Amino acid sequence: MPRTIEERLLSKVNHNPVTGCWEWVGSKMNSPGRYGNYGRIMYEGRVQFAHRVMFRLKRGYAPDVVMHTCDNPCCVNPSHLAPGDNKKNCEDKFKKGRDNRKATFAEYQLTWMLRSQGNSYKRVGAWLGFSPATIRKWDLGLCKHGPR
Ligand SMILES: [Zn+2]
Repeated sequence: MPRTIEERLLSKVNHNPVTGCWEWVGSKMNSPGRYGNYGRIMYEGRVQFAHRVMFRLKRGYAPDVVMHTCDNPCCVNPSHLAPGDNKKNCEDKFKKGRDNRKATFAEYQLTWMLRSQGNSYKRVGAWLGFSPATIRKWDLGLCKHGPR
């Protein structure tokens, strides 16, 4: 008998007694940097973020971005998840002192220029004070909350 999506989700979490986090022990996203820590699950015929599926299951809708109030990317505890948009998410990270501070447009342009000259993400990141993962996202146009 096929299990429900909720059962599938709950069978893959480890309850952290200290933080209260439901840490995902199933497969993770295969991407570099921070995004690699998000849990993933096959649902509705495609791979999705586990925490997003959990959020939708519990709240009945899917916002653009599901944020972690506990700041633990692999956590899927619905009470640690909050809706947010990309901009808010970025500001939130900024407050927490991550490398996702808003870049100036000049920095963004510089990234493209340096990349086109064959510099590595790591090198460009070190020059501009951002993580290689952030530089990569800009370079590939993946980061919606890049410079504005
Ligand atoms: Zn948590």
